[in-house]
Amino acid sequence: MDIVSRFINYVKVDTQSDANSKTIPSTVKQKDLAKILVKELKELGLNAFMDEYGYVYAKIDKTKDGHKAVGFIAHMDTSPDVSGTNVKPRIIKNYQGEVIKLNQDLSMCPKTSPDLNYVIGDDIVVTDGNTLLGADNKAGIAIIMDFAKEVITKNPPHGDIYLGFTPDEEIGRGADKFNLDYFKADFAYTIDGGCVGVINFENFNASSAKVTFIGKSMHPGSAKGKLINSQHLAFEFHNMLPKFLNPAFTEGYDGFNHLSEMSGNVELTHLHYIIRNHNYNLFKFQEEKFKRIKDYLNNKYGYEAVKLEIKESYLNMYEVLKDDFTSVEVAKKATLNLGINYYEIPIRGGTDGARLSFMGLPCPNLGTGGFNFHSRFEFLSINQMKQSVLILLEIIKLV
Ligand SMILES: [Zn+2]
Repeated sequence: MDIVSRFINYVKVDTQSDANSKTIPSTVKQKDLAKILVKELKELGLNAFMDEYGYVYAKIDKTKDGHKAVGFIAHMDTSPDVSGTNVKPRIIKNYQGEVIKLNQDLSMCPKTSPDLNYVIGDDIVVTDGNTLLGADNKAGIAIIMDFAKEVITKNPPHGDIYLGFTPDEEIGRGADKFNLDYFKADFAYTIDGGCVGVINFENFNASSAKVTFIGKSMHPGSAKGKLINSQHLAFEFHNMLPKFLNPAFTEGYDGFNHLSEMSGNVELTHLHYIIRNHNYNLFKFQEEKFKRIKDYLNNKYGYEAVKLEIKESYLNMYEVLKDDFTSVEVAKKATLNLGINYYEIPIRGGTDGARLSFMGLPCPNLGTGGFNFHSRFEFLSINQMKQSVLILLEIIKLV
């Protein structure tokens, strides 16, 4: 089966994950794709299996000593943000920058979707405007499957190769049950998103802050000198945070504090923030600011008017990778060997690879040729997807 047919087959399987579910995987339907992958891997002659949590693993045994063991990982779920039911992919051959009519109501062009400029002259896959495409991350899966087929049929000299397909990445749980006792790679790559040649080895340090404000309610008619409105405490707190650490003013390596939720009344108000920065020291300083403001206000009002709970979410994989940069260097060299430019882009979010890196499996991310993720405007360059397979084949030569 060629890589395009694989991709088209995978996106037709609905694998949307669900953050409100407590089960693993969060939606049983993700196992539909897991089963297909196990079957296809077995047809390639591999000893593939799905575990009780819906993770799929396989190993291609080494053909030569002296190579490192390397792993490739892609996630099976699609984002809960946009429907993934009844995806109807459409291929446009030799795209020339024209307006693409997705359906009666929706169209896109390089002006509204600037990433289309990266795929001029390519064959691309688009949606029918009613769902996402699911190139995030079925492009990654198709790349790894096609790579596995190439390795098995052409049998180049290589070390042990591990393959892993995970559920629930989109809801931040993809690394939760990842089996590192089985997956004994020296390092691995997630193959997930962005232009071909993209190498991500930095992501945010991330935590969340729950701030609770306790007021003192009083009939407003007789409130003088007695009322403390918790909502005003919340305004006061928020206004003391640095103004320009607002995501609306940030990009690249800028960090931010994002007010993601608020609710309240006179007696009790809650603010919920997420705190992000690539730089660990600056990240800790942002958290420190939250604590100082809390202390200041409690001191000012003379009782525990503000309560603060900060919880770490994930850390920058760079903190792990910087000690041994082999995985990143190999990916850069493989990309250049093929005459493709590489792009080092810091991720303004987290990845399963970040968590895996801290669990002991260094794991940068490589691009797939997919764009406009979590959107009805999602699209994939078939040319770039095929180039990504070549990069993986080059990597196993170099490690
Ligand atoms: Zn993804």
